[in-house]
Amino acid sequence: AMKQMATTKVPEVRDITRIERIGAHSHIRGLGLDDALEPRQVSQGMVGQLASRRAAGLILEMIKDGHIAGRAVLIAGQPGTGKTAIAMGIAQSLGTDTPFTAMAGSEIFSLEMSKTEALSQAFRKAIGVRIKEETEIIEGEVVEIQIDRPATGTGAKVGKLTLKTTEMETIYDLGSKMIESLSKERVQAGDVITIDKATGKISKLGRSFTRARDYDAMGAQTQFVQCPEGELQKRKEVVHTVSLHEIDVINSRTQGFLALFSGDTGEIKSEVREQINAKVLSLVMDLKSFPGLDLIYVLFIDEVHMLDMECFSFLNRALESDLSPVLIMATNRGITRIRGTNYQSPHGIPIDLLDRLLIIATSPYTEKETRQILKIRCEEEDVELSEEAHTVLTRIGQETSLRYAIQLISTAGLVCRKRRGTEVQVEDIKRVYSLFLDESRSSQYMKEYQDSFLFNETTQPTMDTS
Ligand code: ATP
Repeated sequence: AMKQMATTKVPEVRDITRIERIGAHSHIRGLGLDDALEPRQVSQGMVGQLASRRAAGLILEMIKDGHIAGRAVLIAGQPGTGKTAIAMGIAQSLGTDTPFTAMAGSEIFSLEMSKTEALSQAFRKAIGVRIKEETEIIEGEVVEIQIDRPATGTGAKVGKLTLKTTEMETIYDLGSKMIESLSKERVQAGDVITIDKATGKISKLGRSFTRARDYDAMGAQTQFVQCPEGELQKRKEVVHTVSLHEIDVINSRTQGFLALFSGDTGEIKSEVREQINAKVLSLVMDLKSFPGLDLIYVLFIDEVHMLDMECFSFLNRALESDLSPVLIMATNRGITRIRGTNYQSPHGIPIDLLDRLLIIATSPYTEKETRQILKIRCEEEDVELSEEAHTVLTRIGQETSLRYAIQLISTAGLVCRKRRGTEVQVEDIKRVYSLFLDESRSSQYMKEYQDSFLFNETTQPTMDTS
């Protein structure tokens, strides 16, 4: 599961950062169900776990029909049985750009703010407001480009572009960078160009432009784009997605929007949040007259048994709110003590919250399923394994953990490349298996060498880490 609080937008097209660092669940593209909501054994990157996927499919339908308000989902099962993967599958099925915010229950204790504020922020990061905007594209013929260079001063150049559209002739003031780029790209009088009013993008038909930033003629940053051959598009749709958290920060007078970059957002005043909720809600109510707005959201909290009473009451209240994300929680605990109390309860969750939950259970994978999952991950990471290597890796996956086996794929691939091999062999797997410890060998090692470690605390009761 993801240890970082991170909003992962899953793009349809892979961008560069994704190629560099492939997320642990990047192979999940949905729940892999057919039209009758029956799970296929292997589909959309999903393998097996049929009963939970079938249940997740029903939940997905409920979410789409808006029937889940006030309720949440709990996925219960042993580590590495695909709890995060299923949550991801639900998010993906809601739309490839559905923001998926994942956090571990323990994270709320490590932040420099109160537990409920941390949860609040997680909730609001998981509620996105999607605003569609139609932008106007002005198309016209360049009449004149004029560059004035002042004799002294900062050396800044100013310039003017006269554009003749069918209706009128307009003169644009251009920044210096813009003029340079325009002249470099040999935009001449007589050329047909378009200017996007909202973004300030300038395009010329069928020609590749270099990017020129910092141009501020229309109050916006500009870059040149290559226009596809054929008709220049007159109108274009621009979609902005902002989370409620971002709106909070921008509107919080004490923070200012720069806090978004430093991450130093601190606590947000409740009045600010209330105002924003009211505004967003009124827009949602008005959905028919404002078709460009809709809400998209999935918040995943792993290790939910790490939360305490205060947090659970917060969740209860938050689920009642009109603006709540689809909350999916996960735990690998059975009957256990509720943190901060002396009461035992299923999954360490108080009964009143349990009551609101739709609970899905995941079960351990068969050898065949482990093999299939590993195969998909190999394809995802572009690593080829020999039959025997695959069998050995599957054994490791069954005997240690699926996640450990998955981690060995890229490392074995690297070892293989270093010896100029094209296909990972059993030897490569053995090599990385001896280099990197799985959890049980690691604890074994710690026990054997405990005396040589500084700050050894094994005399004290062991910490509840998971
Ligand atoms: P934990 O309880 O430790 O958080 P988890 O139950 O959330 O574990 P995951 O992190 O979802 O387990 O699974 C481990 C890895 O195996 C991930 O890379 C996940 O994408 C992959 N995986 C798990 N189940 C499936 C599945 N049914 N199909 C495809 N991939 C899967």
